[in-house]
Parts: sequence; C-alpha cells; structure tokens
Amino acid sequence: MKVRQILDSKGGDVATITPDRTIGDAIGELGRRRIGSLVVVDEGGNLVGILSERDLVAQMAEHGLDLTQSHVRDLMTSNVVTCQPDDDVTAVTIKMTDGRFRHVPVVDRGRLIGLISIGDAVKARINELEHEREALRDYISSG
Ligand code: AMP
Repeated sequence: MKVRQILDSKGGDVATITPDRTIGDAIGELGRRRIGSLVVVDEGGNLVGILSERDLVAQMAEHGLDLTQSHVRDLMTSNVVTCQPDDDVTAVTIKMTDGRFRHVPVVDRGRLIGLISIGDAVKARINELEHEREALRDYISSG
C-alpha cells in the first residue's frame, strides 16, 4: 500500500504553526484539535520543523512547567524525516519505529500535502489484512 492511498481516505489536512508563535499558542492548537503534533512551516509554507507533545513534556521535565512564553522554534525538531506519496506505507512505518517518532509529513515536489501518523499506518495495514482475509475466505468457499 502507498502513502497516497492513506491520504485519499483521510484527506490532506495538516495542522501547522509558524516558528515565531508561542508554545502557549501551540498547546492551544494541539488541545483544540486533539492531536499530538504540529508541522512547523515558515511564512512561505515551507516545512521547517515538527513540534510534538513529546517535545513539550521533555522541556517541562527539564525546565519546569511554564513554557507558555517560549517559542515554537526553541522546542521544535528541525531535522524532519518526510515521505512522498509514492512511498510504501510499510517502509514509512519502519522509519517511524526505528526513529521513535509517530508522525511523518508527506511532501510532493517540495510541497506539504499531508501527514501520516503511526495510527494511520496501523489502521491501513489492518484494513489491508482484513481485505486479504475476506478474499481468501471467498476463494476457499467458492471452491
Ligand atoms: P512523536 O512520537 O511524533 O510525537 O515525536 C517524538 C519526537 O520526534 C519529538 O521530538 C518530535 O519533534 C520528533 N519527530 C516527530 N516526527 C518527526 C519526524 N517526522 N522527523 C523527525 N523528528 C520527528
């Protein structure tokens, strides 16, 4: 299965934030949307980082609870692993488990077109296995 097939079913909506916004803004956005990460883009929409709830927790563990006046650029990960729509979902899942992160932005010709989470990848794999199981069952019962 390709990354493109996941985006076809879930859509290409990506929650983004700019690096100059405060962590208070980011927490508000994560909470309102009930999500675990924000893709960080500059004013031109170019991907410059990713900020996850993990980054917030790690920072709080080290520096205390009040992060609200820090900025997204201070806590984000800049070296972002991305994937392309034609990539295989299994290969992307391996990247996530090896790198110990749960989100991968999808980039097509330099443009951000979606985001795959580990949950999306697992759901897609379960659906795929279910279809295979049904096809096998039909094949056996038709013989
Ligand atoms: P996550 O498991 O995705 O919530 O993130 C765990 C850690 O990995 C955090 O420090 C994130 O900033 C970082 N991270 C998340 N996604 C990516 C990615 N695609 N590439 C590089 N780092 C990431």
